[in-house]
Amino acid sequence: MPELPEVETTRRKIEPLLLGRIIERISHDAPHKYRNTHLAEGKRVSGLSRRGKYLLLQLTDSEAAEGLPHDLELIVHLGMTGGFRLQAGQHTRVTLTTDAGTLHFDDPRRFGKMAVVATGDYGGMPTLAAMGPEPLSDDFGEAEFVRLARECGAVKPWLLSQKPVSGVGNIYADESLWLAQIHPAQTKLTAAEAKKLYAAIREVMGAAVEAGGSSLGEGVGNYRQHDGEGGWFQVQHHAYGKAGQPCDRCGTPLEKIVLGQRGTHFCPQCQRVRRA
Ligand SMILES: [Zn+2]
Repeated sequence: MPELPEVETTRRKIEPLLLGRIIERISHDAPHKYRNTHLAEGKRVSGLSRRGKYLLLQLTDSEAAEGLPHDLELIVHLGMTGGFRLQAGQHTRVTLTTDAGTLHFDDPRRFGKMAVVATGDYGGMPTLAAMGPEPLSDDFGEAEFVRLARECGAVKPWLLSQKPVSGVGNIYADESLWLAQIHPAQTKLTAAEAKKLYAAIREVMGAAVEAGGSSLGEGVGNYRQHDGEGGWFQVQHHAYGKAGQPCDRCGTPLEKIVLGQRGTHFCPQCQRVRRA
């Protein structure tokens, strides 16, 4: 499952191919998954940004004067297996033709989605509409995070809700909680725990974005399709996917539980539930 660092890497890879280009055609055969994409045709891509795990392409009229507000956005969610390629393949779902070339959206498991909306109109996408601050931006403030964390339910599902902070998915939630030595089911963090978790999220997400960025030289054509969760970058994981292996901090075998319907990895020694 692509998480924030993978989506950010995708953004950086497709930006040089799309920025400033005019979208001539977006073809697919699933209008319920790729909604209103015809509205993007004839528009110029004036920016590529990201919120959490959503890619946002800002679209302006190709004839519009500079400085006018962007009027539409093409929102892309990669789902479980979505990615862009230069060559069409067996799993190509959407083909995007610009005045400079063609980009194919491959998605073997078909969980990816696209939609063209009026800029900022995320009413049909509650997760995007309620999304918290970007973890590596100045908007992600420690004091506010601590305030929210002191009232939180089970901390891992709370992180995965995207409300306290955007873009933290299953892998990086497990890694951040391991680093902060907090049990994934802990509720109502103390201020000290919340501060440790805040620092851990910034460290884990920063390292992952950097690792993704270091592979940018490959070019979009060589963009490696992952198979299922994990396996995108050679990032050293300490918890995720390591059930039964010794904890890198204390040597105790790591455990795997299901929490909020998600596989959850933690150290039973370093990450104990604190009774309230
Ligand atoms: Zn441990």
